[in-house]
Formats: sequence, structure tokens, C-alpha cells
Amino acid sequence: MPGSEEFVVTPYEVKGRIDYERLRELFGTQELSPELLERVRAATGGDLHPLLRRGVYYSHRDLAALLDGHAKGHPFFLYSGRGPSGPLHTSHLVPFELCRWFQERLHVPMYIQITDDEKYWARGGLTREETASWGLENLYDILALGFDPKRTHVFFDSRSIAALYPLAIRVARKIPYSTVKAVFGFEPSTNIGLVFYTALQSVPCFWPSWAEGRTVPCLIPCGIDQDPHFRVTRDIAEGLGYPKPALLHSQMIPGLLGENVMSTTGDRADNALFLNDPKAVVDRKVRNAFTGGRATVEEQRRLGATPEVCSVWALWRTRFAESEEKFREVTDGCRSGTLLCGECKSQVLERIHAFYRRHAEAREKVKEWAESTIVTTAPKPL
Ligand code: SF4
Repeated sequence: MPGSEEFVVTPYEVKGRIDYERLRELFGTQELSPELLERVRAATGGDLHPLLRRGVYYSHRDLAALLDGHAKGHPFFLYSGRGPSGPLHTSHLVPFELCRWFQERLHVPMYIQITDDEKYWARGGLTREETASWGLENLYDILALGFDPKRTHVFFDSRSIAALYPLAIRVARKIPYSTVKAVFGFEPSTNIGLVFYTALQSVPCFWPSWAEGRTVPCLIPCGIDQDPHFRVTRDIAEGLGYPKPALLHSQMIPGLLGENVMSTTGDRADNALFLNDPKAVVDRKVRNAFTGGRATVEEQRRLGATPEVCSVWALWRTRFAESEEKFREVTDGCRSGTLLCGECKSQVLERIHAFYRRHAEAREKVKEWAESTIVTTAPKPL
């Protein structure tokens, strides 16, 4: 990232303490201002989603134009994806949770891409069977958040290629190798699957416009580290006769070990809460999680703690504070020293266990209809 020496954020690497405003400026994205949030609130009716209210989503590209179109009666659709290399953890749910909320409020279609092909090409240690099998497992978890079966469509890459390929042919011709090499850092040894995958990842952004024969704008909620991926898509959109996808960017969700991101690349399983972690493992991970607390109880009571650096506070902020009152109570109690880390962890664990129980039930139910969401045929020949 040019111009920044303190931190690095790319689709493949996040390092250092991130200054999110500076990152936004470096990426050239727009601020998710209070005025724009108010427009989202008015368009969706009722309260904003906590991820918007609490500033987890903080940046965007072209959201105002998308809302302008929506106000004039031009509905948009949502798009997000998952590269299936293992079980999902709670931070993977952040983009999907916002999509689910938009779908519930506005009844818009949701397109999910499961990139089992890309994960096979990118991860030498995974077999085809493993990426396909994780793809299905991950899809159950995503759908269990509460997506509407009638409005949710899945591109499961290895099974949906007949639906994707006619458009991928056109997309691929617009992307020079020099662009993907610069954006993704491809080496001479990079396999050619990953090179072509760039086209496949862009296809869902245009697919509804192609299928319906009219302009259907796209909104992609994603981590800000993923912005470079979609710059390629935005650059080619108009040349293909489709609108540029709008983006909503979230901050990175910190890991339980105190790292910037809840990533488990390498051997860091304790940095994340996996959705298939048994109860005892969840307990252990949260009890051992990095906090912003003080060295002693006496010090914490006297000086208070620092929620902003605490991985447990990040859990409250992103999912487990059920109301703004609860979120304020935790944040104020932490800062003032009236809430101690042990008690705070007990409270959040109660909520995590309750969520895991509800989620397991919902996950069983979606298995009845998950297959019906997978798109396997193209709407028409090109
Ligand atoms: S009281 Fe809670 S939020 Fe505050 S530092 Fe301790 S664990 Fe984190």
C-alpha cells in the first residue's frame, strides 16, 4: 500500500495497527457518513442494523447512487461469496448478516458465490472433494442466518459453471493479464486456474442484469481488505454495458489472540470461534481471549479498561450485544472499571452458546431446501 509505513492491508495480508480513516483515503473510498446512514435507515424502515449503527461498516463506493436508484423504483440485488477451505468462524458471518438484513427489509434478491474451484487452485493442501464438501457445509451455515429461499440464489462454482460460463467468456476478454498480476501479485508459478478465476468472481455482479435483460444494480458488503478485488470488476463493468457494483466496507474483525483479523491461516485455530467448535472449546477460547483489561483487578477498578483493543468487546460489537443499551452498558462498564473481564466473558459466553444452539437448529432446517438455491443453467445463450 503506497504511502503507508505503519500498516499493510491487501486481500492477502493485514499487518500493523490499522488507521481506518487513513486506509479509506489510501483506497480512495467514500465515508459512510451519518447523512448516508440516515438515508439507509429511511429506505429500509425501522432501526439500522447494529453493524451499521456501531460503525463496523464505515466506508463505501457508490452507495448514494444505489439508494437514488432504489428511491426511483430500481431495485438492486446483493452479492457476497465464500471460499470454502474449512469451517466458518463468526467473523465470516459479518457480510452475510448485513445481506440478510437488507433482504429482510427490502425483499431484494441475494446471490451467493461458493468458490470451491478457487480454493482448490489457491490451497495446495486441499483436495477437490474437500473444497466441494466444505462448500456445502459453509452454504448451510450461511443460509441458516435466515435467508429467504425464494429470493436466494447460489453459484456453487464447480456445479454452476454452465450458468456462469457464457458471461465469464465476455468478462475474461476485458481483463488483461497485467491487471490481475498487479492486483493479485501473481507469480510465474501461479496456476492458470487462479488467473481465469478473476473473471468468474466478477460474473455474479452482472448476472442478474444479463439474465433479466435490464439494468439491475449490485451491492456488495465486504471487508475493506477485499476492495481491490472489486476494483477490477468496477473497471470493466461499463465496457460490458453493466453498472459498476456498489460496495459497503467493514473494518476487519479482530482475532481472539489480539490480532488485527480473525484469521486462522497457519496454525492459529484459537484466534477464531468456529461455528463447529464444541461448547468446551468455545469456553476455553473466550476465557483465554486477549482483552483490553489491566494487570490487576484493583488497577482495573481504579483506571478502567480499553474496549477498543479488546477481542471480547469486538464480539459484543459485531454480534452478541442484543441491544444498544446492552452494548453501551458493556462499553461504559469496561471503560469505567465497574465491569471486570471475567464477568464480561461470562456474559458474552452465555450469548454465544445461545446463538450456537439456535444456529444448529436453523442449519438442520435449511438442508431441506439448500440444494434448490443452486443455479445450474444459463438464462439464455449469449
Ligand atoms: S471488561 Fe470486557 S470489554 Fe472490557 S477489556 Fe475486559 S473483556 Fe474486554
